[in-house]
Amino acid sequence: MDDLLSGALSRLDEAAKHVEVDSEVLEKLKYAKETLSVRLSVRMDDGSRRSFPAWRCRYDDTRGPTKGGIRFHPSSNVEEVTTLAFWMTFKCAVMNLPYGGGKGAVKVDPHSLSKSELERLSRAYVQAFAGMIGPDRDIPAPDVYTNSMIMGWMADEYSSIVRQPSPAVITGKPLPLGGSLGRDDATARGGYYLIKHLEEDLRLSGSARRVVIQGYGNAGFHIARLLHADGYRIVGLSDSRGAIVCADGLDPQAVQTAKEQGGSVTAYTGNGARAVTGDELLGTACEMLVPAALEDQIHKGNAGLIKARVVLELANGPVTPDADCILNEAGVIVLPDILANAGGVTVSYFEWVQNRQGYYWGLDEIHQRLRVIMETEGRRVWDMGSARNIPMRTAAYAHALERLSKAIAAHGTQPFFVG
Ligand code: NAD
Repeated sequence: MDDLLSGALSRLDEAAKHVEVDSEVLEKLKYAKETLSVRLSVRMDDGSRRSFPAWRCRYDDTRGPTKGGIRFHPSSNVEEVTTLAFWMTFKCAVMNLPYGGGKGAVKVDPHSLSKSELERLSRAYVQAFAGMIGPDRDIPAPDVYTNSMIMGWMADEYSSIVRQPSPAVITGKPLPLGGSLGRDDATARGGYYLIKHLEEDLRLSGSARRVVIQGYGNAGFHIARLLHADGYRIVGLSDSRGAIVCADGLDPQAVQTAKEQGGSVTAYTGNGARAVTGDELLGTACEMLVPAALEDQIHKGNAGLIKARVVLELANGPVTPDADCILNEAGVIVLPDILANAGGVTVSYFEWVQNRQGYYWGLDEIHQRLRVIMETEGRRVWDMGSARNIPMRTAAYAHALERLSKAIAAHGTQPFFVG
């Protein structure tokens, strides 16, 4: 079995030690319900035709229609899609959203395509998966290298196929096409609300609140902006091209402007900032590390370098199970992805609700609703982890597993049928 998926399933086994759960439930959660693999055939601008492997996985829909993003990435594969769909199943359960978990991907480097080719590829994806997705069945969203415009094309293509406007088929759409206010920074904002709520428990309320952020895209930039505005000092940042550190603190907007002009955070040279390697970034003295790039970035080879006391996982799966053990032994508190980055799917849920009711909320209402859910579920996970003295990741999985288990067992398990 693929490493990423077996790593994810090992966390399920760990969580099962802390919850009363029927073996049938565990068996069901070990396999995806439905996965479709296709090749998308797309006409290129030069008249040639190219085909791209693409997938959609609906991992488990016991608690509701499946929900999860679509990724366009050159190294996407079916195991990664399945693992991401598994994580979504648990993420929606942690947050008590009425959804199961799904995910999709196309193996492509989107930067190698023209805008017209990207539109044709996005529409081809929906043509291939139109029978699988739907507002009551499976609701995609953006993920790595997909954005709101792509979601708008996809919703439009689906609406053409079903011959009626159907905005609730997809979330993360542009605002004029039924998107929700607050979706752009929802992932980071959810993580920020979680940190604010647990600030005293995490001993982050003092004066030394230094932060290192790995990855400076949507999640990384917005968490830098929110924490900086709140008085945290951003002492290191990176993107796929390099990393910078600055003990006096970086201004997130100034770094973003330099990145837009120079193509990387390393283009920022103000305030004594200097370029470092990725490992040096991880070893920078700080109170909190925020992985906001891709999966498996913190592994057994570099976990020992980390000086932070708290890790806020905005990326999905950034810490491997081996690295998790190293961090636990060092007493580092890891706020796990399925809780820490769940603000994104929560506001996606709000978008779907607004599309279905045809009535749209203001930004304050979105923020308030997001804050309540992050605080409620964050506190439950924290209390379970503290009371049982288990890592927060195990607590988050156990909390989700309790909900999934109740839903699956409500259909009856062996003891019910045989008495
Ligand atoms: P993005 O494409 O906007 O940004 C990704 C960033 O990571 C880019 O700055 C890229 O240069 C950087 N990066 C890539 N490889 C790197 C490396 N080896 N070292 C350092 N930086 C590297 O993507 P995003 O939407 O910000 O997503 C980031 C992570 O957050 C992903 O794991 C994604 O699944 C997760 N996530 C995103 C959302 C969301 O709403 N955007 C929601 C939940 C989870």
